[in-house]
Amino acid sequence: LRYFLSVLPQVVSTDGVRAMMESALTARDRVGVQDFVLLENFTSEAAFIENLRKRFKENLIYTYIGSVLVSVNPYKELEIYTKNHMERYRGVNFYEVSPHIYAVADNSYRSMRSERKDQCILISGESGAGKTEASKKILQYYAVTCPASEQVQTVKDRLLQSNPVLEAFGNAKTLRNDNSSRFGKYMDIQFDFKGAPVGGHIINYLLEKSRVVHQNHGERNFHIFYQLIEGGEEDLLRRLGLERNPQQYQYLVKGNCPKVSSINDRSDWKVVRKALSVIGFNEDDVEELLNIIASVLHLGNVQYGGEEGNACITSDTQIKYLARLLGVNGAVLTEALTHKKIIAKGEELMSPLNLEQASSARDALSKAVYGRTFTWLVNKINTSLTYKDSYKNFSVIGLLDIYGFEVFQHNSFEQFCINYCNEKLQQLFIELTLKSEQEEYEAEGITWEPVQYFNNKIICDLVEEKFKGIISILDEECLRPGDASDITFLEKLEDIVGGHPHFVTHKLADAKTRKVMGRDEFRLQHYAGEVNYNVNGFLDKNNDLLFRNLKEVMCMSENKILTQCFDREELSDKKRPDTAATQFKASLAKLMEILMSKEPSYVRCIKPNDSKQAGRFDEVLIRHQVKYLGLMENLRVRRAGFAYRRRYEVFLQRYKSLCPDTWPNWQGKLSEGVAVLVKHLGYKPEEYKLGRSKIFIRFPKTLFATEDALETR
Ligand code: ADP
Ligand code: MG
Repeated sequence: LRYFLSVLPQVVSTDGVRAMMESALTARDRVGVQDFVLLENFTSEAAFIENLRKRFKENLIYTYIGSVLVSVNPYKELEIYTKNHMERYRGVNFYEVSPHIYAVADNSYRSMRSERKDQCILISGESGAGKTEASKKILQYYAVTCPASEQVQTVKDRLLQSNPVLEAFGNAKTLRNDNSSRFGKYMDIQFDFKGAPVGGHIINYLLEKSRVVHQNHGERNFHIFYQLIEGGEEDLLRRLGLERNPQQYQYLVKGNCPKVSSINDRSDWKVVRKALSVIGFNEDDVEELLNIIASVLHLGNVQYGGEEGNACITSDTQIKYLARLLGVNGAVLTEALTHKKIIAKGEELMSPLNLEQASSARDALSKAVYGRTFTWLVNKINTSLTYKDSYKNFSVIGLLDIYGFEVFQHNSFEQFCINYCNEKLQQLFIELTLKSEQEEYEAEGITWEPVQYFNNKIICDLVEEKFKGIISILDEECLRPGDASDITFLEKLEDIVGGHPHFVTHKLADAKTRKVMGRDEFRLQHYAGEVNYNVNGFLDKNNDLLFRNLKEVMCMSENKILTQCFDREELSDKKRPDTAATQFKASLAKLMEILMSKEPSYVRCIKPNDSKQAGRFDEVLIRHQVKYLGLMENLRVRRAGFAYRRRYEVFLQRYKSLCPDTWPNWQGKLSEGVAVLVKHLGYKPEEYKLGRSKIFIRFPKTLFATEDALETR
């Protein structure tokens, strides 16, 4: 605005106008800029955070970096998601309204419609930052604003109702988020040629199965267990053999946190029951599903006693329920929970398990049963969302709500997978953003100016390369008979990738790094920063084995869901199933392929504080996220080329009133009208370029001044 004041003194000849502009200036000082590319000092992280802070104080939780939306979790209900707001963003250009998640949703929708190109919206951020809420808001936006018919209404309902179901089974209370998604989710929404949502498809990633058997202090198991116990009808609980007290169940007491003030398990139970029927579950499906959930609780209460080296089950109450609920033979199950089948000299032998082995076999069974049931649930939802029309030609908007970068005090196999996933997404971001920048400049006949950036492919390769990447080395140790252990895995890593610039261990580190590393850790220098991973448990978690005789029992189950989860072919198949890391790698490769074929939009979510409180802006925490989300780099890349580009007709339409020659209508060629207009506005030649269909503006302040001129006109 100051710039504008200086370049167009003739316009501000009267005091009134000047006062108006000055008040606009104070407003901007107060609320910051709505697009970070407009920041004068765009390389300064302090300026970036100050802008976020100003806006957050004013409840302006959304800000752009170009077309990337940055969102700060307000931790309170804001009046910005009403139907009126939805209407305000419908069919309106990005820059004409204040930043909003609806603008992103609408923009993707319109691009899909007008360019017939599939879209995807990638939502990232750490736990509690607001990813899942953002994806729900997008879904609601489509449900309300897209055209509908009766059939479409069913699909809309199912799309919306899939959320509470997946959240009940896949979300849990953690220290970071009372409703934390413990799985990654990619959801396609399919639209027909009229732009109505007609179907959907969900892919789930890496459910945190370990939570079924263990929770850290202050955390809970998956919501569904508590919902069932608190909300389940008397006769249902009786049938399932459950008591209305979560404290009775070993799998629910580890975190010492049965109740959460922000959660009402009883009313959530009703919501979930209703959602299940909207999605198309009949009473039998629900019954079988709940049988499984209850049997996991009973499994947790199976206690072992007996002599060391010879575990036996001390009470058969649980086995009785388990046999009925799982539809298996009690004696066979008991044997499988206490013995391991080994094959010696061609003969099958049952070898007794010791106490520790028996408990871990039992936990492995619980995790397998729950994990597979979750996958079954996703498939079942997918069936109900399948677009049944014979006319299959639909367009797609995909929503990715997936764990962001995780750096804890103690990082394990799970963080390794999650952070690897984030490296892949960063890689995709680089390829798609820079590639599309380049393509756009070329299409518009504007000389391409290469942008310097760090390409993280080297880190992706370090993790996933065939034969010599970390996953391959891990798999090799998992397959190697004999003395393979987490530590031999670490030593193999040192041998094979020890010289890699992004890898270090205690032994290889310099004195300074060594101080902050354990002997059982390796460190990866990720694009977003360094993370130490503790190798303890890597082999077990990667193997994810279930003893063969437990598998056999489950394959004989009469529970209709479990017969689909445990396939008899698994038993005959001599080939080992893929390891967890290899499966994850394959599913990520597939995800990248899906996303590559679409036009991406990005939502970057930030958590303002660790106490889930409204109004608290914890600067240290936020700076950390700005770094791990790569926002400064994002801004730098965005600013390196032309900060803004607009189609001629849009530009002219918006600013024509600022020039007597283009007002009220320009009769000639659009490009010429724009040329006349910017000349009148005093744009200097180095400030802009005219392409085939668009004007490219290099510095944000140029457009900034023009916007201000419009505001204060
Ligand atoms: P994530 O999926 O990133 O872990 P969530 O989307 O579950 O985080 O958000 C955590 C909590 O923060 C939500 O349960 C809600 O209470 C609050 N929250 C997130 N986004 C918003 C928002 N836009 N408005 C109000 N509250 C929000
Ligand atoms: Mg979530």
